[in-house]
Amino acid sequence: MADTIIGETRLVLLQGDITVQDTEAIVNAANEGLWGGGGVDGAIHRAGGPAIAEECRRIREERGGCPTGQAVITSGGNLKARYVIHTVGPVWSGGAKGEDELLASAYRSSLDLAREYGIRTLSFPSISTGAYRFPVERAARIALDTVTSYLKEHTGTFEEVRFVLFSPPILEAYERVLRDLLGEGALGHFFYPPSPGPGNR
Ligand code: ADP
Repeated sequence: MADTIIGETRLVLLQGDITVQDTEAIVNAANEGLWGGGGVDGAIHRAGGPAIAEECRRIREERGGCPTGQAVITSGGNLKARYVIHTVGPVWSGGAKGEDELLASAYRSSLDLAREYGIRTLSFPSISTGAYRFPVERAARIALDTVTSYLKEHTGTFEEVRFVLFSPPILEAYERVLRDLLGEGALGHFFYPPSPGPGNR
């Protein structure tokens, strides 16, 4: 687990399950039809209950779903999070089909929507790196580059952005990339959540 401050936002990387996060919103790696599915999508629908699928159905009827690289928002149903932002990352097909830009766009669209709703704390999964087979290290670089640039452009908008990575190798890849982007020494390591005490707010 690692954290750092970007502008005025705490950026946290941790291993865990995104469905139990207490941020105001969590981001779902959805598909264009908003059908629910496997991976993190299935987990969010299971934990959040049928209200989320019902709102997804309405969005599908109104505007046909969510194109790759864009995002839509629903309530969080039974989740701790008040909102779920559903974004669609690209399916990896070799890297020459605009996948990098579409992945960056999925992160940016999610942040735009969160900002529009006045959401101050947000959790992301590692979009596209499961069933959609985007190489993890490359996806981590795009995710962290896009999010850190956004946080610098919109200082004061978010209090905390979390990346909730499902397995140790994915967390390690994100940590490596963030250290690389920010420079050695920029990352604090701690047990999450930090225990109260001197030096720990
Ligand atoms: P995609 O179709 O965008 O690749 P997946 O859900 O298949 O989406 O995978 C995206 C990432 O989410 C993968 O790294 C997967 O391990 C991870 N993941 C699966 N379940 C959860 C969960 N409950 N919390 C956080 N991440 C999860």
